Amino acid sequence: MTSVSLLGVPWDEHSSFLRGPALAPAAIREALHSPSSNPSTESGLDLSGEPRFDDAGDLTIPSGPAAVEAIETGLGRLLDKDRRVLTLGGDHAVAYPAVRAHAQRHHGLTLVQLDAHPDLYDEFDGDRLSNACPFARIMEEGLVRRLVQLGIRTMNAPQRAQAERFGVEVVDLRTWRPDLTITVEGPVYVSLDLDVLDPAFAPGVSHPEPGGLSTREAIGLLQRLPGPVVGADLVELNPMRDPTGVTARVAAKLAKELVARLLSDG
Ligand code: MN
Repeated sequence: MTSVSLLGVPWDEHSSFLRGPALAPAAIREALHSPSSNPSTESGLDLSGEPRFDDAGDLTIPSGPAAVEAIETGLGRLLDKDRRVLTLGGDHAVAYPAVRAHAQRHHGLTLVQLDAHPDLYDEFDGDRLSNACPFARIMEEGLVRRLVQLGIRTMNAPQRAQAERFGVEVVDLRTWRPDLTITVEGPVYVSLDLDVLDPAFAPGVSHPEPGGLSTREAIGLLQRLPGPVVGADLVELNPMRDPTGVTARVAAKLAKELVARLLSDG
């Protein structure tokens, strides 16, 4: 039986621009439990009464380089109990240890990254663990069979060179169409950066980039992705930039739809 846990990763030490995403797990949970909505997914699954779903709480993250191993190990502990995990970020630096943990347990992973940014820099401001770099680390370690990036609208020369070097499949938002389908064989890991959305829908992020997806388009994309989806992260909510809480609401909505995908084997 497939079961799914939420796992908070309150970690933003490697945010290249603004701190704040360490506060995201609490903000997303508050929105998830708010009586202003109900705990059902769009497919009609009631997560409050779902025995295959639970919340594993937050990881305790040490400061400094030990954090990467703590995240990989903490997540791995749940995966070894045969749980699928949705990690609630944290900034995008979380993706590196999270994908490492999954790659040890799933061969031939396809990594689907939804993001305004390629995050492929070799280093950023001297930091190789920066939230601008996780997909370079993942690709140089050969952790996944394919990296497919959707929503990209900030590609520049150094990252273009990295994308070519690693064979990244970049679907630029300039050429994207809502009915786009991608063909995948084998297990899928979804790394969802909230800034893939337009700031009109999700302003509470550290790197808002105009010209992004609508909430409806992002939900449709998650619902139509090929599966099985065996793991996911939801990153880059910055509650310091989200005074009305609207972005946390969007994050909670996307979290529910991701849980629905993780619970299903298709
Ligand atoms: Mn991003």
